[in-house]
Amino acid sequence: MLPSETITQLKRIIGKEGVLTTKEDLNAYSYDATSVWTHMPEAVVLPTTTEQVAGVLKLANEKMIPVTPRGGGTSLSGGPIPIKGGIVLCTTRMNKILEINKDNLSATVETGLVLQDFNNALSKEGLFYPPDPQSFLSCTLGGMVAENAGGPHCVKYGVTKQYVLGLKVVLASGYVMKVGSKTVKNRTGYELVSLFTGSEGTLGVITEITLRLLPLPPARKTIVVIFDDMVVAAAAVTNILSSGVIPAKLEIADNFLIRRIEEIMPVGLPVEAKALLLIQTDGSPATVEADSKQISSILKRSGAKEVRVAKDEAEADGYWNSRKAAQAAIYSTAPSVMVEDVTVPRDKLVEFIQKIEEISQKYGLVIPILGHIGDGNLHPNILTDIKDKENFAKAKEAMAEIFDTALTLGGVISGEHGIGLDKKPFLKKAADPLAIEIMKGIKRILDPNNILNPGKIWEEDGTT
Ligand SMILES: Cc1cc2nc3c(=O)[nH]c(=O)nc-3n(C[C@H](O)[C@H](O)[C@H](O)COP(=O)(O)OP(=O)(O)OC[C@H]3O[C@@H](n4cnc5c(N)ncnc54)[C@H](O)[C@@H]3O)c2cc1C
Repeated sequence: MLPSETITQLKRIIGKEGVLTTKEDLNAYSYDATSVWTHMPEAVVLPTTTEQVAGVLKLANEKMIPVTPRGGGTSLSGGPIPIKGGIVLCTTRMNKILEINKDNLSATVETGLVLQDFNNALSKEGLFYPPDPQSFLSCTLGGMVAENAGGPHCVKYGVTKQYVLGLKVVLASGYVMKVGSKTVKNRTGYELVSLFTGSEGTLGVITEITLRLLPLPPARKTIVVIFDDMVVAAAAVTNILSSGVIPAKLEIADNFLIRRIEEIMPVGLPVEAKALLLIQTDGSPATVEADSKQISSILKRSGAKEVRVAKDEAEADGYWNSRKAAQAAIYSTAPSVMVEDVTVPRDKLVEFIQKIEEISQKYGLVIPILGHIGDGNLHPNILTDIKDKENFAKAKEAMAEIFDTALTLGGVISGEHGIGLDKKPFLKKAADPLAIEIMKGIKRILDPNNILNPGKIWEEDGTT
């Protein structure tokens, strides 16, 4: 527990209602969407302004108290878990849209704004913010920037970093710094906006975000494709991408997922199918028509068993709702699930899927595959039970082998979820030792007392 004097100071900064200390409240901030990590904070603060965030960090820095920033807590890498105790700084009360500027195609928002609320406001203006983590009902824009989040749209539109124009960031000292601008181009020295994007809450607390927007595409179509084999489906993806047409979304799910989706929210998928591709095209009506035809014919030539174009928005929404529910559908099938987000160059997808299937057989583990296959980004979900020591040890070995395979194929251990706690032991295999030293050096400059989200990204025992 933090000393009562510190709690009193926090209440003075934030107001009584914005400081939580009961066991029940603290418990609610002790986990994220991973199923194997948890740690209790000693206090939770819910600021409403940048000045309050600055006050908390100034105090924490003086007293060397760890501060873990938290948005919606939907991280799949352990990022918002306060592994060193201290304060969880949760941004969900900072959720205002400060400006939607249609003439500049930009918006400025507070960090705790939930993505779905942002999307609802934008669609009324005919505007579009593409990055779309499938946790969009509860993830925040700040959490997305801190993780450089992706999602299905990213195959055509790119990830969060492609949209962040400017940030207001509170540094560990309490200093409030603005980086970037409202302009789509900006070459004022080093790209500090990019440095904070993907920094996983370790370099500063983001309080305001200026984002680039696009016009909402006027038309779209959804195509559902069934295959007898995951590997054939992966080869079809490569055929689509190399043909010159880039769909707006290009997702994959295996037989385990197809059965599970039909069990919990039936949309009429054949449960015996071994693989499913869920594709969306968007743009002008003529482009959508032409792209959908081209993609359908490539799929048929690539061995698809069935190519189904959704007849209307309602049918399409049914498929995309089931995609949104897919991660939760997996979670409910095992006591613990290791959700990975390895990413490989897209010409290596066939080899990668073959290897994951081999690893699943070798360890006798069920590893359903889901993911943003158009980005080469797969989510092998290792079903396990943290309480079953032998099974959990096997799952960890399988995870390490999946990471090794991705690296051997020229891929990376995380495409969008970040390193957090989950992948710390693997960082040294995945990054140049000097690059890791440079990261640590940047951390020392911005947070010399190591109060911001300590215990994340690299091991502290000197092994990375
Ligand atoms: C069902 C499900 C589906 C998902 N699908 C996707 C997907 O398709 N693509 C994808 O990329 N991710 C996905 N995720 C992972 C997760 O939703 C994203 O990483 C998301 O961006 C996290 O946002 P959050 O607000 O929940 O952040 P949190 O989980 O609260 O925090 C994430 C990290 O950001 C830091 N952080 C949060 N707010 C701030 C801030 N204001 N300043 C500085 N640091 C901060 C935290 O310290 C932590 O390290 C999914 C998760 C779930 C549960």
